[in-house]
Amino acid sequence: MRRINLAGLVAALIISLSHLASLASVSERPPTRDALATKSYEFTNGQWFDGNRFVPATFYSVAGHLTLRRPTKIDSVIDLKGQYVVPPFAEAHTHNISRPPTQEELKPYIQQGIFYVMNQGNLISAGPIPASDPDSPVEVVYANGPLTPSGGHPVVLNERAVERGNLKLTKAELDGRAFFVVDDIADLDRKWPGILAAKPDFIKVYLGFIEEYEKRKADPSYVDKRGISPAVLREVVRRAHAVGLRVSAHIETAADFHACLVAGVDIIAHLPGLRIGAAAGFSDRSIDRWIISESDAGLAAKKGTIVITTVIGGKKVINSKSEDYAPTREIYQRNIATLSNHRVRLVIGSDYYEGTALAEVFLLGHQPLLGDGIEPLGVFDNLTLLKMWTQTTPQAIFPGRKIGRLREGYEASFLVLSGNPLDDFGNVRHITMRFKQGRALAG
Ligand SMILES: [Zn+2]
Repeated sequence: MRRINLAGLVAALIISLSHLASLASVSERPPTRDALATKSYEFTNGQWFDGNRFVPATFYSVAGHLTLRRPTKIDSVIDLKGQYVVPPFAEAHTHNISRPPTQEELKPYIQQGIFYVMNQGNLISAGPIPASDPDSPVEVVYANGPLTPSGGHPVVLNERAVERGNLKLTKAELDGRAFFVVDDIADLDRKWPGILAAKPDFIKVYLGFIEEYEKRKADPSYVDKRGISPAVLREVVRRAHAVGLRVSAHIETAADFHACLVAGVDIIAHLPGLRIGAAAGFSDRSIDRWIISESDAGLAAKKGTIVITTVIGGKKVINSKSEDYAPTREIYQRNIATLSNHRVRLVIGSDYYEGTALAEVFLLGHQPLLGDGIEPLGVFDNLTLLKMWTQTTPQAIFPGRKIGRLREGYEASFLVLSGNPLDDFGNVRHITMRFKQGRALAG
């Protein structure tokens, strides 16, 4: 029950409680997990990633934070034996961890060193909203149900799940639990209190083919291929920002990408190109409508908009037999080049039900992930990928936290790799030690 009492407290308070716990451990009581967090460590002979390269250093972990200053008391010295230390990895787009998570769901993330996660659309529980567990090594922020129009993708997807018996809900229960149908401002007025009452960490909206919004909104041939209206988008952003919540948007085309920038969306949850041609409701095969313009890339950089890659989630780039394979890969390669040239904040997220961000980083790099048979896109070098995965992505998920860097005063969260990932990116899989806020984790 103590976990529930602690829930919602800020990290500083948890640390001060840990101090109390360690004082208490002077008596015969066995040390608690919080007392372990205050254990001070000395890490010798490690090579620490400074954002550009690995440099030898001796770091200490004191009260869950990194320091280069030797504390008076050291509980344990850990010899890193020349191994490579990086901040933990992150996943900015998944639906694979429930609220609250099960141990089974967390297992692959702990194993792969992915400690910061963004769930871009999850089921809202029927009872009280579960608090997050401050002791969990994997920290997850949740969108809850996304805001979608009638006949939008989340509606179709969830109704199908009910029909197949994969969801223990009736179709009538879906609106308000799996998604919120918002066709106009009147719907938003009615549903907004319920959306906030379910305590989202951010708001997720479904945009799609906004250039044909009027044409598609009521035509049954565009069910599953439509998004919310421009007016609803603007109003959601205004209301979310007024209560301190960020807005993340599903998009399909470059026009959707543009609409997000104009409306002030904080996070664009995909690159354009999830579906093209007939699958997207178009009769032609031109890829022009998925190509982001130089001016929009410049605008995204200027606004600091976060853009999540999710290249693997669309699946088109991994099925070489599909007629969409080559054109979709071209769309991603061109857009990533344009956004990179403008220094847009690109972050790693997979939207991959069969896996995690691990598959996404390998797809974006130059060397294939052993055994998955997927041809990499080759759009980022190892250094860029490592920085995106360990720094830009965690900082995008938890802005304001001292994470994503191995520096004085930052949280003592890191992974120890047996080989240098800048030489061989495959070394990101060779994790020999995991630390989270000053605690050693079992793999
Ligand atoms: Zn998604």
